[in-house]
Amino acid sequence: MKFQLLPSTFDETGRASARQHLSCFVVDDLIAFDAGSLAFAVTAEQKKRIRDVVLSHAHLDHIAGLPLYIDDLFATIKRPIQIHATSEVVEILERDIFNWSIYPRFSELQNDYGIVVEYCPFETEKDFKVKHLNVKAVNVNHKVPSVGFIVSDGKSTFALTNDTAAVNRFWEAVNQTENLSAIMVECAFPDELGDLASNSHHLTPQALREELSKINQSCPIYVVNIKPMYIEQVSKQIHELDIENLHILEVGKIYEF
Ligand SMILES: [Zn+2]
Repeated sequence: MKFQLLPSTFDETGRASARQHLSCFVVDDLIAFDAGSLAFAVTAEQKKRIRDVVLSHAHLDHIAGLPLYIDDLFATIKRPIQIHATSEVVEILERDIFNWSIYPRFSELQNDYGIVVEYCPFETEKDFKVKHLNVKAVNVNHKVPSVGFIVSDGKSTFALTNDTAAVNRFWEAVNQTENLSAIMVECAFPDELGDLASNSHHLTPQALREELSKINQSCPIYVVNIKPMYIEQVSKQIHELDIENLHILEVGKIYEF
């Protein structure tokens, strides 16, 4: 299984930087988990293929690229973009984003081939299929309704927390999963901003250490969703945790699980 965090910011030379403003994880060049940088950073090939978008929650950094991605493809797509999300998230998208004021309500529009967007609501704690992937969504502990995912293609399986503060049920589900190849876990703020992290329901490296003590899996663990302003501080503090299988996920790099 191919797994890639799309870039979302650029350095002074215009090249993709290691900082992550937006979240969009692409699996097998075919399925997007969150859509933060979906319209901005996909390759032409990915743009041809990605018609399934699985959303963890509706915060802007996780959906910013979705309206523009649909807009880009609006006139030409022959099958709709399927948005997989909880019914709570679908409601937020329709009310607050695709409300004709922020952006058109694409779910009510058609092109020459038919509808362009289709919502596929999923329930937490129940497996569902997205193309060749089997996905389970588990509630996490964030400021708004939000889920983490356990995703398998039948050969490899990964877990992705998305945004969360301390959580138990997600780690229980992770621990019940066999042959896990990788775990992606958030760590948004440095330890100095512990109050901000807990008010906004995110983790710091010290809080992350506590979370990792709940995991009974020995696979590699990759840190994601570090706030771009604090990447140096957070990276340093994560290295200081001195946990052997803990790494920071590289933006843009293609991982094979
Ligand atoms: Zn969030």
